[in-house]
Amino acid sequence: MNTVETFLAHIEKQPNGCWKWLGSITVYGYGQYTFEGKNWRAHRLSYHLFVTPLTGDEEEYICHACNNKWCVAPEHLVSGNASVNYHHAASVGRIPDKDQRFGRKQTEGKDLPKGIYYDPDRDNYRVSIRVKEKRYQAN
Ligand SMILES: [Zn+2]
Repeated sequence: MNTVETFLAHIEKQPNGCWKWLGSITVYGYGQYTFEGKNWRAHRLSYHLFVTPLTGDEEEYICHACNNKWCVAPEHLVSGNASVNYHHAASVGRIPDKDQRFGRKQTEGKDLPKGIYYDPDRDNYRVSIRVKEKRYQAN
C-alpha cells in the first residue's frame, strides 16, 4: 500500500531545491502516483500532503514555480488561485483591460490581487509569488 513514506521514497532532492520524481511519469511529463485509491499527478499529491489538502477538483490548478514538471517539492508548488483570482477580477472590471491605459496606481500593484503585478516591458500581467524569502515568477 502506498503511503507518504513510499511517496517520499520516489524523490531525489536536487541542489536547487527541486524534488525530482523518480517514479512513473505521464506522457505529459508529470509524475503520477496512486494514493488512497486515486491516481494523482505526483506534484498535486505533494501539494495535497504537505501544503493544503485538495478536494481532487481538477479546477484547482497547481503550478510549478520552478517550471520543472517532474518536481514535487512542496515549496515549488503554487496554487493557481492567484491567477484565477486575477482573471476573475478582470472579468468583473476590478482590473482594467490591458487595452485601456491604466494609471500609476495599477502599475504599482496597489489595486491588483496579491502576487499579480503589471510588467510594462511585456505590456502584460505577471504572477510573482514569494516562498520562504525566494521569489518565483510565472506568466
Ligand atoms: Zn522544483
